[in-house]
Amino acid sequence: MSIKGVFKAECPSCKERFDADFWTVIRGDHDQNLKEAIMSGEFDLIMCPACSHVFSCEETFIYIDPERDLLVFVMPESYRKEEEKWLEKMRQDYEVLRESFVEEGVLVFEPQYYFGAAPLSDLLLRDRDIEEETDVMIFMAGERGFKHAKIQPSFARRHDLPFSLPYAGTAPVRDSALEATRAIVADNDAIARVKNLLKTLEESNTPDLPFVKNNA
Ligand SMILES: [Zn+2]
Repeated sequence: MSIKGVFKAECPSCKERFDADFWTVIRGDHDQNLKEAIMSGEFDLIMCPACSHVFSCEETFIYIDPERDLLVFVMPESYRKEEEKWLEKMRQDYEVLRESFVEEGVLVFEPQYYFGAAPLSDLLLRDRDIEEETDVMIFMAGERGFKHAKIQPSFARRHDLPFSLPYAGTAPVRDSALEATRAIVADNDAIARVKNLLKTLEESNTPDLPFVKNNA
């Protein structure tokens, strides 16, 4: 679940000070509206209750999407001036958080640290492009009776691949994935990330594919 906190905000227009709600923890896998607000750049906007002025007010928040291997600490852009101090604090916060994750049995992955929400917005917008190509590919795979397995999201982002891999046989190994990917590219060579996948598979020299997510 996403979590809200209350902070003091000051209107830059009329100087009114008021309590404002901010999201401090966002579950990207559960809260599509908040995720979209980050992508559209509207996430930090609040409205002054006195004069209705809308302004941007940044607070630190954590963005979590275990499905996509994302654990992102987003600090206000202004914190960049004291980058080392804040990174150290965020790393300490992460240690506390990590313990609670381990207790809850949540998969733990390496956190990322950003100053300002813009880099997270860019990442989520690119993820959306990847998802769209992945959906097309999964549809085409399904029409040919191919199955599909998940690719580790960080690997997919790094190599600009879809988030899933089609395969022809019973298991997502190199040869069955090559067969399915070749057939899909032969039908439609306009899906850039599926072509990248084909190249990655052709260059792979082991039958097992270490980038396939085993908890898929
Ligand atoms: Zn105001």
